[in-house]
Order: sequence, then structure tokens, then C-alpha cells
Amino acid sequence: MSDSTLEALGGRSAPPAQFGGDALVVCDNLVRIYQTGSVEVQALQGLDLLVDQGEMIALVGASGSGKSTLLALLSGMDAPTAGRARVGRWDLMAMHARERVAYRQQMVGFVWQQTSRNLLPYLTARQNVTTPMTFTHRRRRAARANELLDLLGVGHVADRRPLEMSGGEQQRVAIATALANEPQLLLADEPTGELDTTTSQEVFDALRTANREAGTTVIVVTHDPSVSTQVERTVAIRDGRTSSEVLRRDDDGDVTHEEYAVMDRAGRVQVPREYRDALELTRRVRLALEGDHVSVRPDGRPR
Ligand code: ADP
Ligand code: MG
Repeated sequence: MSDSTLEALGGRSAPPAQFGGDALVVCDNLVRIYQTGSVEVQALQGLDLLVDQGEMIALVGASGSGKSTLLALLSGMDAPTAGRARVGRWDLMAMHARERVAYRQQMVGFVWQQTSRNLLPYLTARQNVTTPMTFTHRRRRAARANELLDLLGVGHVADRRPLEMSGGEQQRVAIATALANEPQLLLADEPTGELDTTTSQEVFDALRTANREAGTTVIVVTHDPSVSTQVERTVAIRDGRTSSEVLRRDDDGDVTHEEYAVMDRAGRVQVPREYRDALELTRRVRLALEGDHVSVRPDGRPR
């Protein structure tokens, strides 16, 4: 084929759009297999996820579904077994040790569930927030720490050590610490898991502040089913794959929630267990194109 024919077909001027082209976070068929002795655990089994710059999404799913594994990969603490993962300009599959360190310092912030794991116990809140700023904000570290603590509503604990703060205050200081180097992506793994409802709300509000005021893209793993009312998108993981998404829409002041199944690029969709059980959908189903929808029916053969 000649170059001019290629161009006529859009071959040169418009390269094929890449999956997730302008998204900040792109996970494409991501696989993570843990090997312990002779036992293999497929924690992620071809997970797809796109998150746009500036979004705040909640990640939900049963215990063991792969949420922490995904966050560990996105944080650069762990590396995928197969598939593609990109955050901004960073290719998480191809990063070398030194890039990994730079990625973790510059690109992502992380908040753990265990309050004690997020902060250094012998430092004050202000000192904790200042610590990650080794190479940044040289002349105004303390000022920036104060601004971040104020932004998240914990300016009053600036001179206290973690043991002199409540759990919710510790987590909000942890968020401030995670934001110290202005990461584009903030990851939080069940940051409210150890807190009561009221305190959880304060921590969740702090994450939203990070998202809205600091412009940080936020992915928060949570067990709390009510969060889908507070974020625009809730992504559910089942068996190491994204299975469904709930979108919250604001139509003329009416807030609606709609649940979607997620289709991967090969066209696979996971049918929820309730549906499978209700119609006894087992190994083989009948698919039909019905004008404006696709129907899935039981095979119908005697078993
Ligand atoms: P979640 O955070 O959704 O509860 P995880 O990502 O922690 O799920 O775990 C997903 C699966 O991977 C589970 O079956 C878990 O037992 C397994 N797993 C997680 N971490 C390891 C590890 N370091 N070694 C072996 N298996 C692991
Ligand atoms: Mg977990």
C-alpha cells in the first residue's frame, strides 16, 4: 500500500486512538498473580479502568476482590504481572527502580487504612507534612504544611504528635502529608475503615477538598455503600475485574444513580450472580440482538 493510500485511509495523519488516550489513569487488561510456594493467586484477572484527570472515584468490592492489589500497583509499590498500566506519562510496566522512586515522590500520594501506618509517631503534624518535601518547596515548607493542614481542617493539631490526635484528625493529617509534593493522583485504601460514621464523613470531606481545591485526582477504596451518593462514579471490582459502575448524575437538580455493567475490549460482560441465579444462566446462554438491546437467555436445553 502506498503512502498516499495510507494517508487517504487516515493511516498517517490520524494514528489509531490508544485505549484510554487522554485519561490520567489507564489500566488495560491488568493482571497480578501472587505466587507463594506452589500456590498461585490471581488477584487481578484482566482489569480495565480509566480515570480522568480531576475525577474522584470510589472503588468498592468484597474483601479479596483485588482492590488493595490495584492500589499497590498504581502507587508504584508493586509491579503488574501482565497487561498495561499508565499514570500520566509513567508506564508502570516499564519503570526501573529509580523511576519508581521518582514516580512515588512526584506523582502519587497514598493514605492507608491503619492510621498508625500513615504518620511518623515521634513527629508533629506539621513535621509529618514537611517530611516528604525533601526536594520541593524549599523555602516555604513550613508555610505550605500550614496551608495544607488548614485546607483539610486540621490546622489546630499542627504542633501535636499523632497520639495526641483523634483517628479522624490523624487521617486528615495523613491526607495533607500525601498532598505535600502536589501529586496528580491521590490513592486511599479504606482510609475510614477504622473510624466511626461521623469521623468517616470528615475524612471523606477532606478527600473531596483535595479533589476540588487542590485539583488532585482521587481514587478511594471503601466499604461504605453510602459513598456512591457522594462521588460521581463508583467502580465495583469482582474477582479481580471491574464488573460494574454506578454513575451519579445531576439532571436539572435531580440526582440519579444508574448502574452499568462494564464491557471489556473483547466484549465480555459479567452477569451479576443474582441475575444468573434467577434465570439459571449457566455455562451457555442465548444472545440475541433485539433492535435497541441485547437479550441474554438460558440455553433452554434439558439438563
Ligand atoms: P481486597 O483489598 O479487595 O480485599 P486484595 O487485593 O488484598 O483484596 O487481595 C486480592 C487477592 O490476592 C486475595 O485473594 C488475597 O488473598 C491475595 N493476595 C493479596 N496480597 C497477597 C500477597 N502478598 N501474597 C499472596 N496473595 C495475596
Ligand atoms: Mg484491601
